[in-house]
Amino acid sequence: MTDATLPPPEPGEKVAAQSAEAVLAQAETAVEEAGFEADMAPLDVPRRLLLVHAHPDDETIGTGATMARYAAEGVAVTLVTCTLGEEGEILEPGLEHLAADQQDGLGQHRIGELAAAMEALRVTDHRFLAGPGRWRDSGMMGTAQNERPDCFWQADVDEAVRELVAVWRQVRPQVVVTYDANGGYGHPDHVQAHRITVAAFDAAADPAYAPELGEPWVADKLYFGAVPRSVLQAGIDLLRESGDTSGFFGVEQAEDLPFGVPDEQVTTAVDASDHLEAKVAAMRAHKTQIAVDGPFFALSNNIGQRAFGIEHYTLARGARGPAAGPHGWEDDLFAGLDA
Ligand SMILES: [Zn+2]
Repeated sequence: MTDATLPPPEPGEKVAAQSAEAVLAQAETAVEEAGFEADMAPLDVPRRLLLVHAHPDDETIGTGATMARYAAEGVAVTLVTCTLGEEGEILEPGLEHLAADQQDGLGQHRIGELAAAMEALRVTDHRFLAGPGRWRDSGMMGTAQNERPDCFWQADVDEAVRELVAVWRQVRPQVVVTYDANGGYGHPDHVQAHRITVAAFDAAADPAYAPELGEPWVADKLYFGAVPRSVLQAGIDLLRESGDTSGFFGVEQAEDLPFGVPDEQVTTAVDASDHLEAKVAAMRAHKTQIAVDGPFFALSNNIGQRAFGIEHYTLARGARGPAAGPHGWEDDLFAGLDA
């Protein structure tokens, strides 16, 4: 058994103080819980998916159904989250004291929310880049939080890439998912997650790069999450038809939103509508972030399967697999791969 089979330490766990037997026993329990045979290393799982997200809740909103589907299909799904989301707005009444300008306890609280969300999605391998709290949420673009030396936006990119490559070479994913160059909607932590993931794609494959981090690993495909404009527009229209007068984020046209992608740029639609329930449960787990009376839940009630059970992607690296859906889109992130 190699180090690669050990689970990541839990937040606050004192790994060094444990005996080797205790660590081994814990690893075996984790492996069993993950549904593997006790004597089977995770790398024996033929298909492996790595997702890199900026804050707890991004994984669920953008890729939750995809994660639940692949986990259910026996794919080894690994989530790397870059920050604790300390600067998020607090939408849960009674927890306002956790805000960054008061007790500054939101990040710790969101570790628990993320763990509950992963339980809902049945994803057992989730880690914070370089450990929980290494880099802080940078807040929205243009705010003073962007200047804090401990925030992810100010991170030493080389160090962050190195940390990601360490995970990458351990889990050896065929498919990696993150955001596009705009970070989906311009949040600095999303932009930074994009940067380090694109850099790690090449670095992890380069035998000359940090050989002490493990054997080089060439991932087959890199995807950026995408919301097709047509899907956004359908959501806006349906909300309006259902009598909602607030509009989706206050707009009536998909073009006015900062995160829609023209349909012709989309390459892949993963239909995970069988796992919509798990995604909605994971959304509920992010209680401080996603208001149950907000647009996400309004949409999930109205046109749940279309807007939330099917998640879209743009292939950025690797060869496009055979088209299986409408518009010539792939219907599987592993399309065209032997895995
Ligand atoms: Zn985010």
